[in-house]
Amino acid sequence: MSEASADIQHDYIIVGGGSSGAALASRLSENGSTRVLLLEAGRASHPWSRVPVSFGMLIDNPAANWRFFSEPEPGTANRSIPVPRGKLLGGSSSINGLVFVRGQPLDYDTWAQYGNRGWSWQDVLPVFRRMETFEGSGDETRGRDGPLRVSEVPDQNPLYDALFAAAVAAGYKRNADYNSPDQEGIVKTQATISRGRRMSTAHCYLRPAMRRPNLRIITEVPVERILLEDKRCVGVAYRHNGRVVEVRAGKEVILSAGAVKTPQILELSGIGRPEVLAAHGIAVRHELPAVGENLRDHINARIQWRIKVRGVSYNEMARGVGAVKQALKYLATGGGFLSLPSAPLLAFLRTRPELETPDVQMHLVPYAVKNPKRRQLHDFPAMTVACYQLRPESLGSIHIKSPDPAVDPAIRFNFLSDPIDQRAMVDGFRMMRRIVGAPPMEPFRGEEYSPGSAVESDEQILTWIRNNSETAYHPIGTCRMAPGPNAVVDDRLRVHGIAGLRIADASIMPTMPSGNTNAPCIMVGEKAADLIRAAA
Ligand SMILES: Cc1cc2nc3c(=O)[nH]c(=O)nc-3n(C[C@H](O)[C@H](O)[C@H](O)COP(=O)(O)OP(=O)(O)OC[C@H]3O[C@@H](n4cnc5c(N)ncnc54)[C@H](O)[C@@H]3O)c2cc1C
Repeated sequence: MSEASADIQHDYIIVGGGSSGAALASRLSENGSTRVLLLEAGRASHPWSRVPVSFGMLIDNPAANWRFFSEPEPGTANRSIPVPRGKLLGGSSSINGLVFVRGQPLDYDTWAQYGNRGWSWQDVLPVFRRMETFEGSGDETRGRDGPLRVSEVPDQNPLYDALFAAAVAAGYKRNADYNSPDQEGIVKTQATISRGRRMSTAHCYLRPAMRRPNLRIITEVPVERILLEDKRCVGVAYRHNGRVVEVRAGKEVILSAGAVKTPQILELSGIGRPEVLAAHGIAVRHELPAVGENLRDHINARIQWRIKVRGVSYNEMARGVGAVKQALKYLATGGGFLSLPSAPLLAFLRTRPELETPDVQMHLVPYAVKNPKRRQLHDFPAMTVACYQLRPESLGSIHIKSPDPAVDPAIRFNFLSDPIDQRAMVDGFRMMRRIVGAPPMEPFRGEEYSPGSAVESDEQILTWIRNNSETAYHPIGTCRMAPGPNAVVDDRLRVHGIAGLRIADASIMPTMPSGNTNAPCIMVGEKAADLIRAAA
């Protein structure tokens, strides 16, 4: 798909067709008289994307991924950490690990407490309900007829039974539905998978909407900046076949380019911190110091164990003859290794009993990969448990490094700079060992392969995390939503001080939702459609 035209008028221009942008484009264009233009920098699709296990193939694939890297920082041993982001329709929902988590009521009540009316748990729950068709059991808080199909992992494995029993033996509870208001416990993962196929927003939202004459989607057109007339946004400029094309919006432009690219587009347009813009020779069109600030992400610590029992680790099953069998099984039934999300079991736990709600999340995985080439499995049976602190305090930033839109911005996570984060990560690390060390895991558990038992004191654990951990791929917050000058958008997602411009993506989140971020991003896209329709 491609097109270059300067004179088509649309009511709304959406920049970026990812988790939020695709949901927004689909909902806005439900009204046949609303003309919507969706501009996406990446391609329309990638052949691997529909197969769930493809997250391993697409994690550093330039055909579907921006492949950003963070700046080296002393807090993470001066490593340049990979920051994959989806670059195709569906955005990161087309390449992600498919784990579906709404978060905790506390998350959204916190957003409301910052002064964001309409974003409390009670406000967003109806949006979470209407966006999903949950194929599992669950109470009235779950949706049954939304566009996004969500199912519980059907895979069975004696290793899972042992992990459940081990978590209970270690003092943690099981939970039937962690996407109900009570998140706590060890659980089977709910995933954006149906009948063995990935449920991206491209598939669930855009595909059914594509035939609408009032929705135009143009792919492979990176937007470089927005067009401003004084303090009003009137359109965008994108690159097509080496030329810059300007296109105007009759009503509004909505940036949904994600937490990395949305602040870059604002800064390239002269909206942001004056000192950042001045350093790159960009004239200030509108001073907004919060642009690019307030970056949060989950730093993810992984422990790998060898497994003593044959036939339970996918490290064996996904190699050689086993791989052929898995491929045939997938083709015949839609099941097996190829149909799994990045983790079939999760645990949401409290590191301290006095906490009100869980503060760490674990991903329990029946295989282990060689880092950093994640697609390569170890050639021995193994498993992984990974852990991150749910609501990190450490704040980083994303700012331009150049006035050239093709130069990636500087991503500074500032991971583990806050002592609360350090404490939670060390405690969570010990909890992973406690669960896998519990008696029900005895028949399965081999040697702790990485980092190994020599890493034992708090200091050693923290140092190991600093030296080895990567992100869980959940950057948020770089265009924070709140009233007043220390934020970028208001609670109707309108950019402070600029008419005709909204933002709807992970960047608006004032704090981290407790879990993986795809579901909250889709909720933001849905909610943006409500707010725009209400204003029209
Ligand atoms: C490898 C990986 C694994 C993950 N695993 C999970 C998981 O298991 N569960 C979960 O809940 N979350 C997961 N996430 C996170 C989740 O997918 C993201 O938080 C979410 O998809 C972000 O949504 P978004 O709309 O903010 O941005 P995106 O979905 O990234 O969409 C942004 C879109 O804008 C486009 N774009 C960017 N710049 C421009 C431009 N200049 N012009 C035009 N278009 C542009 C991009 O190409 C992209 O399509 C994962 C993410 C990754 C990358």
